[in-house]
Amino acid sequence: MPASDSAANGSWRRRRALLSYSIGAAGLALIVLGLRGYVENAREAARRATCISNIKCLALCCLMYARDNDDCLPTITCGRPDTWAIAAARRIDSADVLWCPKDKRFQEWQQYLSIAGSSPDYGAGLIEERARILGAATSYLMNPDLAGQRIAGIDDPLHAILLEEIPPHHKGYRIVAYADGHVAALKTVAEAQGR
Ligand SMILES: [Zn+2]
Repeated sequence: MPASDSAANGSWRRRRALLSYSIGAAGLALIVLGLRGYVENAREAARRATCISNIKCLALCCLMYARDNDDCLPTITCGRPDTWAIAAARRIDSADVLWCPKDKRFQEWQQYLSIAGSSPDYGAGLIEERARILGAATSYLMNPDLAGQRIAGIDDPLHAILLEEIPPHHKGYRIVAYADGHVAALKTVAEAQGR
């Protein structure tokens, strides 16, 4: 084989090897990106499920509160939107349900507890104390139209929103609880339209 042909073949092989390597590296990068997206989606779904479970627990606490208080839901007092949660939380073992796992204030809350040496099971007094320092006791807000209302006086409990996560922490979803105790992750318009 002439020397020029041999050199051309060598160059062609090197280019082909380089191309194969480039395609392989690009494929691997796509797989890694895909896996990372899958893991992140699964993590977000788990956090959303925890948030839904939390708001369900709190809605049931509100209904139990009403059962023990002449059919009246907890109130919002002194301009503080979280006072209902402090009243409702007397019925739960762990106040972690007061917080969405994605709410940054939840981490501050946990740090406070570790500094205070408290167990996750604590009373409404500690919740109130911490709420004063943090400026809030929960990631969820009660519908002011229903606060303090008698359950029997609510027109349509199946469709009346009792609690809502505000601000929302799950892109494309509103996490809500209704006055009959059921919960939902409502897709926002953009999410429902697949945008
Ligand atoms: Zn949440």
